[in-house]
Amino acid sequence: MESRAIPLSMTDLVEQEENLSLSPLWTDIDWNRDGRQDTFLNLEHSVHRSAYGIVPIPVSLFKNGSGPTLLLMAGSHGDEYEGQAILTRLIQSLDADAVSGRIIVLPAVNLPAAMEGSRVSPLDGGNLNRCFGDTFSDNPTSRIADYIANTILPMCDVFFDFHSGGSSLEYVPCTYANVSGDPSKAARTLEALEFMNAPIAWVHQGIPQGPEAGRAAYRSGVVYLSGEFGGGGRVSMQATRVAERAIYRLMSHLKILPLANEWKDESESRLMRASPQHYFYADRDGIFEPAAALGDEVAKGDLSGTILNPETPAQPGTKVLFPASGTWICGRAIGRVRRGDCLGHLLADVSRDEILAAE
Ligand SMILES: [Zn+2]
Repeated sequence: MESRAIPLSMTDLVEQEENLSLSPLWTDIDWNRDGRQDTFLNLEHSVHRSAYGIVPIPVSLFKNGSGPTLLLMAGSHGDEYEGQAILTRLIQSLDADAVSGRIIVLPAVNLPAAMEGSRVSPLDGGNLNRCFGDTFSDNPTSRIADYIANTILPMCDVFFDFHSGGSSLEYVPCTYANVSGDPSKAARTLEALEFMNAPIAWVHQGIPQGPEAGRAAYRSGVVYLSGEFGGGGRVSMQATRVAERAIYRLMSHLKILPLANEWKDESESRLMRASPQHYFYADRDGIFEPAAALGDEVAKGDLSGTILNPETPAQPGTKVLFPASGTWICGRAIGRVRRGDCLGHLLADVSRDEILAAE
């Protein structure tokens, strides 16, 4: 006679029901199982040509024993490639047995945007990193944000979110952190940022107010680290190197993975911050011809460049002056500009003591 299964409890039935039902975003991953899993977050996308279609967003999980949980995410903006490349290679090379804790990797989180090489999703025009506000809309991009904010981040201790200047901006590669929350969390965030030892570490203080991923991390009490690793619509070897070094040093700092010799050498690192006065914009259409280079130290009132109009060549150009003193960290990567386009921004040095005193 066949043995009969023990009847399922109501809790089991409810869980099974949840697993089987097609919610707008579902996965077969077991977040608590040791070892590696390479699978997908399946985002429902029902359209004329595919009534029951899904967008399979890749996710890999590496878990071994107890320890912190780190979320590594790239492709929030599809035209920011450095993080997507690094995390793709990391998935291929990481050994789950070498990990102490849990690493969740989303190498192309806004998959439709990543496959299009576009900042925003071709499905709904959604900018994923502007969908993490306190409420979530019912569209594909917001559903991804909702899942990260309300399912993944509550499992995490630290979140590393890879960005760059994308197609329209270019950055001197730098790491970034939201140093906010209670004093111990602020100190832990700053320690992690400093250990990553990037040439420039950009500190943002205060509670994140915008609908960006850092705000969702703040709501969940998760340390938020990021970086602007290049841009200009291409992949820079130098920027990729800075980003990769930062991630392996972070994993070592968190005691998730031992530090390989390749990443051990310390180098000079500057803590810096931005204020709204550091950003400058085009006040007319034309071609912006820079008069300085990214990475230059500049003074308030120095010439950043001139907006020229070849369509009316006899008309004098418009000089654009730097609005503050600092390091020119980010510049526009496209020559043609329209009134309102951001031409770039500066960062200014800040000391560790100044940062901690402000908390
Ligand atoms: Zn971005």
